[in-house]
Amino acid sequence: MSIYTRILLALDLSDESDQLATKTAKMAEAFGAELNLIHVVEPLSFAYGGDVPMDLTTIQEQLDDHAKTKLDQYAEKVGYPVNRKIIVTGHTETEIHRAAEELNTDLVIVGSHGRHGLALLLGSTANGVLHGAKCDVLAIRVKEED
Ligand code: AMP
Repeated sequence: MSIYTRILLALDLSDESDQLATKTAKMAEAFGAELNLIHVVEPLSFAYGGDVPMDLTTIQEQLDDHAKTKLDQYAEKVGYPVNRKIIVTGHTETEIHRAAEELNTDLVIVGSHGRHGLALLLGSTANGVLHGAKCDVLAIRVKEED
């Protein structure tokens, strides 16, 4: 049996997500593993301390729609079947951990910029995902576009 059977790739929908998706799909193919994608939409109220004097529902819905379109595009482009495309609202690390457990994931993949020297090799999200995870976590170094 393959070492990894269910891979969960966390995508932040930045320009680097393309490289991450392509590389992960190749790994999933090599392992013959199920591939799932997740994007977490952080509630806008988080950014404003939860006390926003306006209704953010429409903007939040637009963010969800945008995320859905982008995940559909990645799934189409990678050339490997994507089992589930998860879009969830909440705290990024918490939701990635929750989805990983619900899907019986054995490998979570995140991107890492590695642009701040060794001590800060992992960005804050990648680091947070690594720490609470109950399965292996692989940080793939992403190159920024010039
Ligand atoms: P960061 O630590 O913010 O540079 O992000 C590193 C990696 O964490 C990204 O390449 C993604 O794999 C993951 N990540 C960050 N934000 C999100 C998000 N909102 N949803 C899913 N994955 C994310």
